[in-house]
Amino acid sequence: MNAPNKSGWKPAMTEGGTADGPATVTGNRALMLEEPLIFEIGTTGTTGVDLPEPQESATRLGSFVRKDEIGLPGLSEPETVRHYTRLSRQNYAIDLGLFPLGSCTMKHNPRLNEKVARMPGFLDVHPLQPVDTVRGALEVVNELAHWLIELTGMHGVAMTPKAGAHGELCGILCIRAALEARGDAREVILVPESAHGTNPATAAFAGYRVEDIPATKEGRVDLEALKARLGPDVAAVMITNPNTCGLFERDMKAISDAVHAAGAFVYCDGANFNAIVGKVRPGDLGVDAMHINLHKTFSTPHGGGGPGSGPVVLSEALAPFGPLPFTARMADGTVQLVEEENAAEHDHARAFGRMSAFHGQMGMFTRALTYILSHGADGLKQVAEDAVLNANYILRSLEDVLDAPFGPSGPCMHEALFSDKGFADGFSTLDLAKALIDEGYHPMTMYFPLVVHGAMLVEPTETESKAGIDQFVAALRSVAERARAGDESLKTAPHFAPRRRLDETLAARKPVLAFDGPCTPGGTPQLSEQGGS
Ligand SMILES: *Cc1c(COP(=O)(O)O)cnc(C)c1O
Repeated sequence: MNAPNKSGWKPAMTEGGTADGPATVTGNRALMLEEPLIFEIGTTGTTGVDLPEPQESATRLGSFVRKDEIGLPGLSEPETVRHYTRLSRQNYAIDLGLFPLGSCTMKHNPRLNEKVARMPGFLDVHPLQPVDTVRGALEVVNELAHWLIELTGMHGVAMTPKAGAHGELCGILCIRAALEARGDAREVILVPESAHGTNPATAAFAGYRVEDIPATKEGRVDLEALKARLGPDVAAVMITNPNTCGLFERDMKAISDAVHAAGAFVYCDGANFNAIVGKVRPGDLGVDAMHINLHKTFSTPHGGGGPGSGPVVLSEALAPFGPLPFTARMADGTVQLVEEENAAEHDHARAFGRMSAFHGQMGMFTRALTYILSHGADGLKQVAEDAVLNANYILRSLEDVLDAPFGPSGPCMHEALFSDKGFADGFSTLDLAKALIDEGYHPMTMYFPLVVHGAMLVEPTETESKAGIDQFVAALRSVAERARAGDESLKTAPHFAPRRRLDETLAARKPVLAFDGPCTPGGTPQLSEQGGS
């Protein structure tokens, strides 16, 4: 155990230093520690655990018995801990600073949520435990379901989908089940040009043909064009509100009325619910199904920090088709689990099926409910107001250096959208984003939505202070001015990151996904160019 690394140590940096200091033999720059791949430092002979030698036993694998060493990299426990700790320090996190990714709602994850989620009664439950032993957990699921219905003004909710995209599929499958129940096969789902890629992907995955709805010059759904396209072949319209241009769809009620009059359903992508939570109830706008990304609006960790969760709220017309299982409060006050065997008693004989094996993301439910209850009605309303205020502050602070295509038509919702118009010839949104890394920020969402050239979508969320936003604005202003002036150093940014500008096309086209060749003591590991082995 704890054997020293057999592959030995080799001097790392032979280049001769940079403008800001001399070379170091380790490649480290003080607390910025250089870290090789685990395949480069691991050896086959090392392990962090002592296990007894396996007993000889008859094998039934025949010719499939492994003949060579498996070649996995082995490290002692301290080496393993340090390897992953060092890598984690090369990563950006919401606990390090402002995370401006638009559409992602990278807000602070309150520590109170974590404390509650770690209570043994929630942390240690297992989905196969007898129901009588998990009454408290079912209460939590049901209580959260209640508040999601309350906040959205809807009729029911499917809690089991595991993320926003999974929720979209759940909602569209409910719509399909409702249409099939009335013997009305329809083939088309209409999706605005500015939609998130998951919307058309969901519709296509569910077997529908996807057609675009055009946007107006102001960045909103073109109501007249939509009305003109509605007909007996249209199953549903998928609309994001507020939309991905950061604008509220003011015609939402008129859109819903027209869609319903044509016998179709309204799916709302609720990823941007943070902008309107506590202010607007989607049910009042005629929405039939909407997913809620608990990991966005309700502060459960995401982006490498934890799994998502995408409950789908449903209208009265769709609720009977929602998936199993779900929870229901009984007349005697207890919460019951509704499964196939008792679905009929709960008016759910027409449930379309299941979205997951069990009951959803329990850890995210406890966190989201903690967040909702600790904020209260007034707190949630203030979340939306502050998120919108912060985004508008950024929009107005930068519109002299960054083109805001929809800025002139009024305030935005919780995200500010800019384009690359005004950059010097040959300078792109990518150059600006890379320079933002040098300033110590994760870049904003780039090249989305597609309706804006070189789009930059910035969502500060409500959890940033004015001082924090001012510093971010100063950084963005500086890199925007450099892009306008054609500062060549932007082209080679980032200069201070652990790795410099990577060839992203090559990385996407020829990803190095597999370690090829055994980890031999002192040997040089090979990385295969193409993944798959
Ligand atoms: C995040 C997002 C989704 C997808 O949600 P996931 O939880 O990532 O699956 C869909 N639409 C929009 C607008 C989003 O921002």
